[in-house]
Amino acid sequence: LHHDMHHAAYVKGANAALKALKEIAAGQRDAGEVKHYERELGFHGSGHALHTIFWRNMSPEPGPPSPELKAAIERDFGGMEAFKTLFSASSNAVEGSGWGILGYHPLTGGLLVVQAEKHQDLTVQGLAPLLALDVWEHAYYLKYQNRRADYVKAWWNVVDWADVSRRYAAVLKG
Ligand code: MN
Repeated sequence: LHHDMHHAAYVKGANAALKALKEIAAGQRDAGEVKHYERELGFHGSGHALHTIFWRNMSPEPGPPSPELKAAIERDFGGMEAFKTLFSASSNAVEGSGWGILGYHPLTGGLLVVQAEKHQDLTVQGLAPLLALDVWEHAYYLKYQNRRADYVKAWWNVVDWADVSRRYAAVLKG
């Protein structure tokens, strides 16, 4: 349901926005619609990007973090447990629909935990997401109803640190 209905709708929305923006560029559509379609692209494009990371961040057989990622988490958060405390608090505190995100920022050369409201608001421009947790109600209501904190707690059991580590190595390479 989550992948085939919710995520698919963001892919469809992003493609529709890209098509409309191309038509504006070609003079086939009123330029006054540019703000609308750029907002649409921000919402649906970010929804697609974050879900793509979210699915791959999870595995029934999660792997461990690389030594490099582990060292970065210790450097920037004071350790894995401290990082999890911050990330969980951040995800639990998202107002309404959004995400908890661990990302790498090239300007600080370090890791940051941020929230995204909806898919695109409150986050930091230029942040490369490495780990993303969907805390929209559609992500947990079927199984956890309103108990978001229980969902966040259980989610740690399926986080595939090997995937997060691959993403970290890729952003460091640039
Ligand atoms: Mn979702």
